[in-house]
Amino acid sequence: MRHGRAGERAAPVVISSHDAGQAQSNRGKSAGRVSAGRPMLDRRVVELVQRGWMILEAATADVEVAESQPTPSEEMLWSCRSTLAEAVRAWEALKAELGPQTVRAALEAPTTSALELSPTGSRGRSVALVLIGGFTYAAVRVPGVELAPIQWRIIRLRGHHEIDPYYVCRLADGAIQCDCAEWTYRIAETERHGKAHCKHSAALVELGWI
Ligand SMILES: [Zn+2]
Repeated sequence: MRHGRAGERAAPVVISSHDAGQAQSNRGKSAGRVSAGRPMLDRRVVELVQRGWMILEAATADVEVAESQPTPSEEMLWSCRSTLAEAVRAWEALKAELGPQTVRAALEAPTTSALELSPTGSRGRSVALVLIGGFTYAAVRVPGVELAPIQWRIIRLRGHHEIDPYYVCRLADGAIQCDCAEWTYRIAETERHGKAHCKHSAALVELGWI
């Protein structure tokens, strides 16, 4: 079912500087409570940290894409770099407020929310960022087929290990499947089939998307 083009990951994620500052302006007064060395996380803190991290990764990816262009425009470079600088400032402020333990725990917590982005030319479909296992993925709903009516294409924004997209599907019989190694080798052919999720399908189930 993997039929996407690896080259699509190079498409820049358009994220406005307003979004980059959002993590900081939304912080409010809620902070993680720490008891006996183990952070007690409320959902709002988890959401704040996960969104802040996704914004930071998206801004970093945009700078990487802009800088890798053969003839990058100065205006584009400046815009991407200033968005990144703003995202870094917001992230550092959040870390300073919550503490590294709470931040780590929030990044490892189940996916709580997605960041909707403006359409980026991916055939006009809107893209959302989703944090899965501490990494930011761009997720796009793609047209389903009779055997798999609901399908999502997800691809990691950064990192060298996962350059191809994964397809997470709900099949006509209600079963959920993914084409990642975790699902293919640890779930598909075992007694866990139909009961277990890989990290990708678990995140989309958590969001109610699949
Ligand atoms: Zn998977």
